[in-house]
Amino acid sequence: MKKRGFALIALFAVSALGFARGPVDPRIQTRVQEFLDRAEKCLGDGKSSEAKTVAEMLLFRRALRYSVDFGDLPPERAEEARGALQEAMASWSDAVNGTVEFVPYTGRFADVRISFVDSVRSGSCEVAGHAVWRRQVLNWREDQFSYQVSAEILIRTTLPGGSRMSPSMMRHTALHELGHVLGLNDSARSGEAMSALNPFAPVSKPAGAEVLSLNGVFDQAGLFLSQAMQQDLLESLNRSS
Ligand SMILES: [Zn+2]
Repeated sequence: MKKRGFALIALFAVSALGFARGPVDPRIQTRVQEFLDRAEKCLGDGKSSEAKTVAEMLLFRRALRYSVDFGDLPPERAEEARGALQEAMASWSDAVNGTVEFVPYTGRFADVRISFVDSVRSGSCEVAGHAVWRRQVLNWREDQFSYQVSAEILIRTTLPGGSRMSPSMMRHTALHELGHVLGLNDSARSGEAMSALNPFAPVSKPAGAEVLSLNGVFDQAGLFLSQAMQQDLLESLNRSS
C-alpha cells in the first residue's frame, strides 16, 4: 500500500479539505473518470451504499472470471496461446499489486470471454485483437446496489500475410485488450501495452506510466471506498444510539 501513496502524490493534489482532483488523465477512459466522479458525488450527497458499490466496481473487488475459447487451434498452439494469455494477466495483476485478479471459469457466464481466432477485423481494417467491454452499476431497491463488469476479447492467431502470430505477439495483444477492460485508452507511444502491435517489437509488460495511471484510479477508488464505509458505520451508530 505504501507504493500507492507515491502515485497519489504524483497524480493528485491533496487539499486541506480532503482530495482535490487533478487534471483528467488522458490514459484513463472517460467512462472510468465518470464513475470516479459519481462515487465522489454520492459521498457528498450521503449516498454511501451507491458510492461503495461504484468504488468496489472501480477496484474490481470481485475477481474477474474468464473463459477461453481456442477455436480450432491444434493442442500445441492452444498451449502457446494459453501461456501468452496467462502471462499477460499475471503482468497486469503484478503491476497493480494484486488489485485485479483473474480466475479461470468454465461456467456459462464468465465476466471476460476470450476467443482466439484466425483473423480479427475492425471495420475494414485487419487488427491484432479487439475488445468490447462494459461496466454497470445496478440499482435493485432504494439502497441496494450491485455491479457488473463484462468483456469480450478476440485475439488473432495468424498474421494478415498468413504466418503465425508468435506467443509474444499474442501476449502483447492480450495485454492490450485486457488494458482496455481495466480502463486504459489506446496509446500512440511505442513500447507501451496500449500501443498498436508492432510484430517486430511486441511489448511484454505494461509501461510504468500506464501502471501509474491505473494505480491512480485504484488509489482514488480505494479512498472513496473507505470514506463510504466510514459513512456507513457512522449512520449505523447514529441509528443505534
Ligand atoms: Zn486498443
